[in-house]
Amino acid sequence: MAVALVVAAGRGERLGSAGPKTLVQLAGRPMLQWSIDALRAADALSEIVVALPAGVAVPGGCVGVLGGEHRSGSVAAALAAAAAGEDVVLVHDGARPLVTPALIRAVLGALDGVDCAIAAAPVTDTIKESDGGGIVVRTLDRSRLWSVQTPQAFTRAALERALAMPADVVAAATDEAWLVERGGGRVRLVAAPAENLKVTTPRDLALAEQLLAARVD
Ligand code: C5P
Repeated sequence: MAVALVVAAGRGERLGSAGPKTLVQLAGRPMLQWSIDALRAADALSEIVVALPAGVAVPGGCVGVLGGEHRSGSVAAALAAAAAGEDVVLVHDGARPLVTPALIRAVLGALDGVDCAIAAAPVTDTIKESDGGGIVVRTLDRSRLWSVQTPQAFTRAALERALAMPADVVAAATDEAWLVERGGGRVRLVAAPAENLKVTTPRDLALAEQLLAARVD
């Protein structure tokens, strides 16, 4: 078994919702509840710890903590609240309600022999790097590029080492796998559907609503 940390304490400003993003209704459930239901259905997690904004009720059956200033701060707060004893930790964004039990099990199953295993989808667009001023400096080799998602599974020791890096490095991390890479750890990619999108903009919300509504039909 493993422990799950769900980070749902972001401000969600780009969504423009009145309240916390995590409580926005999607196909009849709060956004966060979709992830929690998928984690439960995976039948591989002994505990679910959720990092939340202040004033948000803890979903039933979960342990709740107040999120941090940055994403990795929220992961660290959730890890500190998790019961000792499980050697595997699964981190998931509360803003990815389309995660499935099958993907959760695949990521956990891919941790064998590495420090971290992450859900990711092959990139379909051509990706160019700019000089910061709108001029292209290079085109990257698309066949080797992956768009990274969550869930991300870690050995507990690797995640603890990652979060113990200097505070400015940890604060800048857009995912914890990057911290593991920086520390020389091995990170395995697990092919995931692009459908496991992160709800950031109103357009993402409309798409997620459509996809989740199709599941409950
Ligand atoms: O903003 P970003 O795309 O990095 O958010 C990814 C996930 O991290 C979201 O689920 C968000 O709620 C969470 N997060 C958090 N605490 C923060 C910032 C983001 O739990 N301080």
